[in-house]
Amino acid sequence: MTKSTDLNSNPRRHAAAGRSSVASLPLRVHRRAATLALLFALGIGSLTASSSSPGSTDDSGVRISSQEEIAAEFKSVPCKNKERLPAVQALFERIGAQPADISVQKVGGVENLVLIKRGASDEKVLIGAHYDKVDLGCGAIDNWTGIVTIAHLYRSLANWKSTKTLVFVAFGKEEEGLVGSRAMASRLDKSQAAQYCAMVNIDSLGLAAAQVADNMSSKKLRDLAESLAKEMQMPFSHTSIPGAATDSVPFVDKKIPAIEIHGMSNDWKSVLHSDKDQVSRVKPVSVYLGYRLALSIVYRIDGMPCDAFR
Ligand SMILES: [Zn+2]
Repeated sequence: MTKSTDLNSNPRRHAAAGRSSVASLPLRVHRRAATLALLFALGIGSLTASSSSPGSTDDSGVRISSQEEIAAEFKSVPCKNKERLPAVQALFERIGAQPADISVQKVGGVENLVLIKRGASDEKVLIGAHYDKVDLGCGAIDNWTGIVTIAHLYRSLANWKSTKTLVFVAFGKEEEGLVGSRAMASRLDKSQAAQYCAMVNIDSLGLAAAQVADNMSSKKLRDLAESLAKEMQMPFSHTSIPGAATDSVPFVDKKIPAIEIHGMSNDWKSVLHSDKDQVSRVKPVSVYLGYRLALSIVYRIDGMPCDAFR
């Protein structure tokens, strides 16, 4: 997340309601006391719970990571900028990506790591998060949480026969002005841009329930996120964060439907881009909820016409 000086967020809270679930993607939240306390703090004590801890695979081949698996990723976080890109590559390889499928694209003075999972068609869904950080703090919230999320999305979807091709991108230099995402978006010509059905961006989970930043997102994708959160009985809210930006913005500007999912709390300004952005601040349940929401969004987009959200 790039931060501005005049952020006054006043989230409109939308309490989740309804009983139906995304059939093939049941939400699993574990019944551990500490977790439940946090879930209640997040206002989601009514979530359907399950006690399994390893990830589960449904009929479609989607492998859903557990909350414990997400939490384990935060035992060690690379806190130096120069460590980040190699660490992203190592994470993707550990989670099952073939080194040959990973490329580091150097464009416009920035390095973006790209991992492609082929689908039945050339229509694409872009799944992105920035890996760089500001000098202060560890960049655990902003944005190692996003990197962990897209890595687990990759693992979840790696053996799924998707219609669309999934393009995972870890962007560089977001904190220097969306450099990596702008480099990628600006190089798409009209026909290439038309092949991108949607872009799902994850920036700064870890503090609170999953939310959408309205001014960094396309309205139709925001509405999709809201309805999926409702189906999963997951807390959800959306609001504009004036002056702030993230890697979804260059794609919105390019008329590619995009959405920014974050998990920031009302005191985020005192945490992000400060010494307080440490691993100890990451609430795994917040990352888990953002991951589950993003997974449902990608899954749903794959079954829709490419222009459904334009
Ligand atoms: Zn940031």
